[in-house]
Amino acid sequence: MALQRTFSIIKPDATKRNITGAIIKKLEDGGLRVVASKRIRMTREKAEGFYAVHKDRPFFGELVDFMISEPVVVQVLEGEDAVARNREIMGATNPDEAADGTIRKEFALSIGENSVHGSDSLENAKIEIEYFFNDKEIVG
Ligand code: ADP
Ligand code: MG
Repeated sequence: MALQRTFSIIKPDATKRNITGAIIKKLEDGGLRVVASKRIRMTREKAEGFYAVHKDRPFFGELVDFMISEPVVVQVLEGEDAVARNREIMGATNPDEAADGTIRKEFALSIGENSVHGSDSLENAKIEIEYFFNDKEIVG
């Protein structure tokens, strides 16, 4: 076990439905601490850069359009094994496959509009945190 930081986004389907608090409660109840947070509207350029790894996937255009359709809340989460813990609390990408009690099982609308993003590795967590936050914005 190690103290880690990971990157989280509360996605447009969730900000639109005013359930950011319910999602943060799940993260906190799961043992994660919000050490940085801001509500932003992503630009198309920022969203395309963030999801560049998926640029050849058929859903890329739809994903970018979705991510800029409403505000998002970007966060840095800290805790023991935060990267894996956050993915556990989030649940599977497709809400139909997500375990009971997970954010995506309870709140996601579809495989695309699935309420949250979470980094998939410690290496990507560092890259994603730096893509949205500077050091002074993270207060542990
Ligand atoms: P995760 O967010 O669980 O890490 P991926 O990295 O595979 O999942 O995909 C990134 C995001 O792209 C997903 O969270 C979802 O919003 C969207 N997405 C993934 N697969 C599909 C799909 N088949 N159709 C539409 N959108 C998708
Ligand atoms: Mg992913």
